[in-house]
Amino acid sequence: NLTDRLEGVFKKLRGHGVLTEEHIAEAMREVRMALLEADVNYQVAREFVDAVSAKALGREVSQKLSPGQQVIKIVHEELVDLLGGSAEQIRLDGPQPVTIMLAGLQGSGKTTTAGKLAAQLKSKGRKPYLVPADVYRPAAIEQLQVLGSRLDVPVHPSTTDSKPVDICRQALAEAQDKHYDTLIIDTAGRLHIDERLMGELQDIQRAVKLSEILFVADAMTGQDAVTVADTFNKNLEITGIVLTKMEGDARGGAALSIKRVTGKPIKFVGIGEALDALEVFHPDRTASRILGMGDVLTLIEKAEAVVDRQEADRIAKKLKRNEFTLEDFLDQIQQIKKMGSLEQILSMVPGINKLRQLKDAPQPNEKELVKTEAIIRSMTRKERNNHRIIDAGRRQRIAAGSGTSVAEVNRVLKSYSEMLKMLKKMRGKPGAISGMKRRK
Ligand code: GDP
Ligand code: MG
Repeated sequence: NLTDRLEGVFKKLRGHGVLTEEHIAEAMREVRMALLEADVNYQVAREFVDAVSAKALGREVSQKLSPGQQVIKIVHEELVDLLGGSAEQIRLDGPQPVTIMLAGLQGSGKTTTAGKLAAQLKSKGRKPYLVPADVYRPAAIEQLQVLGSRLDVPVHPSTTDSKPVDICRQALAEAQDKHYDTLIIDTAGRLHIDERLMGELQDIQRAVKLSEILFVADAMTGQDAVTVADTFNKNLEITGIVLTKMEGDARGGAALSIKRVTGKPIKFVGIGEALDALEVFHPDRTASRILGMGDVLTLIEKAEAVVDRQEADRIAKKLKRNEFTLEDFLDQIQQIKKMGSLEQILSMVPGINKLRQLKDAPQPNEKELVKTEAIIRSMTRKERNNHRIIDAGRRQRIAAGSGTSVAEVNRVLKSYSEMLKMLKKMRGKPGAISGMKRRK
């Protein structure tokens, strides 16, 4: 995981005011590795890293973020930017019917995407018309006919003995006649780029004024995707990209490469074989996926907003010296409350599940937190700094003062002692403590 790796690189950076060239170079080696592991094209990864280095250099190290987190943040911002910023829709306005052509290699998912698009447009109240223009395999026409009948969307009666360009002309006339407003043209693919295929697509482009030419690419193909996308774009002036098979293990590196090389927006992602498995592309989600860091960024942003790093360092020191009092416990509860729901926060922290599985670890619970706070507040400062002096009589008064019961007061004291024990166990492992410190 890139986040962990960068933390390692930046451990030695504590105390430095700015990010230096040397530190960044080291971090960028890790970033480059992560990109390559996510199937980002070699050249694209190098250009990206150069751009990020330039940006990171000389930036002041924020008090609230560790240097590693800061670099991750810059990398993430840059990735989102490169992937196109915000989501972009297909063009459906202008003269009707609009014409959308799907192009790409065989098996990339053109026919499936044609069906998915038809379903989505139909549900928005449009009247799509599916046009099979893959005349080399009878099965290809049939595949689209099957999808059409499942979706109850009309399919142009193409035959294998006609030329794709003629099919498209006829289909356009038919659509005008029957008032269909969106032609979705499914084309033939090859296993590799081929001039005749490209010529055929150019013929269609000239004959029918295409509103959109969507290049369909399999997200799992990795490095190859770049050359293919580049060639299609140079020959056809594509207007957008559909990345299929983005569910499961695909890490999204192809998205970055294709976007970078063509400069065209990614408009949709396919996330399964089902006809509703088509989503608008979200650059930020894909960026997180490429970095393999889940929601860590959201967490960093929340932490940045509320947690004072110096306060965190103070607590960490206390933890190390085993001086974590009920007073500090109360402070921590305040911090947690500022950051939003406890469950939500814990679910975002990598490794926290391990911690929660530890026997006797206090389980988080919003209501309990409020009660715990009330109970600790009903103690005197002296008691908060030394819980051992709280006797039976005081427990009764604390319960009364906080509107709880003696049993509940006992439970808080018990869970606090358990926590001390747990922290003691963790003290030998510096990673565990610094992990907690960073995030609280
Ligand atoms: P075409 O040759 O470009 O028309 O590709 P097809 O539409 O026939 O799809 C090839 C294979 O990929 C089929 O088995 C599809 O079910 C599958 N497929 C298409 N899109 C997706 C997707 O987003 N996710 C997954 N898992 N499979 C997909
Ligand atoms: Mg097909």
